[in-house]
Amino acid sequence: MFVKVKVNQDACIGCGACTAIAEGVFEMNDEGLSQAKDEAVAEDKVAAVKEAMESCPTSAIEEA
Ligand code: SF4
Repeated sequence: MFVKVKVNQDACIGCGACTAIAEGVFEMNDEGLSQAKDEAVAEDKVAAVKEAMESCPTSAIEEA
C-alpha cells in the first residue's frame, strides 16, 4: 500500500475528478491543475486516492 502521492503536472488536464473523488487530498492550483495538498495520504483516504488514480483520464496521479 502506498502512502505518498503526487500529480504529474505535465499530464494533468485539470478536469477536477480527483478533487471530487478524494476530497481533501487534492486541490486545484493557480494554473488550474490538481496537486496533492500533502504527499502523505491519510490512512482513511487511501481507498479514495486509489479510486482517483483509476479514474484520472490521463493517469496523472502517481505514487510519490
Ligand atoms: Fe488532473 Fe487527473 Fe485530477 Fe483530472 S483527475 S484534475 S486530470 S489529476
